[in-house]
Amino acid sequence: MSEQRNLNIDSEWAAQKPFHFFGPCSAESPEQLEATAKELVQIEGNIFRAGVWKPRTRPDSFQGIGEEALRWLADIKQRYKLKVATEVASPEHLEKALKAGIDVLWIGARTTVNPFTVQALADAMKGIDIPVFVKNPINPDLSLWMGALERINKAGIQKLGAIHRGFHLNENGPYRNSPNWNLAIQLKAAHPTLPVICDASHISGKASLIPQVAQKALDLDMDGLMIETHYQPEKALSDKEQQLTPKQLKETLAALVQKKTSCANQEFLNQLELLRAEIDRVDDELMDRIAHRMEIVKQIGEYKKKNQVTILQLERWKEIMDRVTKNGKALGVESDFIQAFFNAIHDESIRQQTLIHSKEK
Ligand code: PEP
Ligand code: MN
Repeated sequence: MSEQRNLNIDSEWAAQKPFHFFGPCSAESPEQLEATAKELVQIEGNIFRAGVWKPRTRPDSFQGIGEEALRWLADIKQRYKLKVATEVASPEHLEKALKAGIDVLWIGARTTVNPFTVQALADAMKGIDIPVFVKNPINPDLSLWMGALERINKAGIQKLGAIHRGFHLNENGPYRNSPNWNLAIQLKAAHPTLPVICDASHISGKASLIPQVAQKALDLDMDGLMIETHYQPEKALSDKEQQLTPKQLKETLAALVQKKTSCANQEFLNQLELLRAEIDRVDDELMDRIAHRMEIVKQIGEYKKKNQVTILQLERWKEIMDRVTKNGKALGVESDFIQAFFNAIHDESIRQQTLIHSKEK
């Protein structure tokens, strides 16, 4: 029997989007929280974030203040009437956070990767009714991310959201954690009622990239933003490069263009329909050509089998890649895309030929 994978989301709660989390990476002192919160209270609906226990790579980095900071957060909540959020990574953290009256919880990227820890957290969450947001795991594994959401949801948490914070890929790109928008979109497509927000700070790794990452998230209809905000980023005890000042945050938010998911203008709709019809035609042509290519591949597979020739001829494959990359480039198609596309085609060709070669006769 196939398992029920649909998430059960509290739709009334989810409709309150956007979910914005602005506040420091870490709670460092009552003064720091105060100076940041008093500015951020002006941003409507903000959930004031601050890490209390910090998952740091090295043991000599600042590990967070711990339990004492929960009391500071509780104080901010009470005085500024702000909702407060923190990360929990163990049942013990959870118990302490709940006792302190934390309003919203998130599960960090380093926790999502570990099903044992997520399950222990989920078990400890049974019976609570506060929102829980689950960050993507460090590695781009959609099932792992979904699995964590399912575990928490099965424990009865229906105020559930996801946070796209990018992936650690050891790439030389501009980001600290490369975004994988496609994965976030796949998650949204699988669970249309699940709020999926974007942590622009942990993706960017530097303040200057945050505005464009945040705009991209809005353009992809993400349901909110997490942006680390500190009244003096240069003095922050963690993640100083990727925090904005409250003033910069307000300027960034003011400059973001909130686009609509549709437009009633008839001319726009007509034009869009024409272009989409053209896309559909091209997709049909592509599919027809791919099917044709696969037929030829199968014939080659039979032929090689009969003559006992290997499926893979590396030189031939290199020749194809060089040719299509060169031709594609001349037509303005990105080399990375061409390679990914033809690698997928090649994988399928090998799979088809392997089926033929492993047939009995
Ligand atoms: C954080 O939000 O402070 C944090 C540690 O994030 P992540 O789990 O995405 O690294
Ligand atoms: Mn951080």
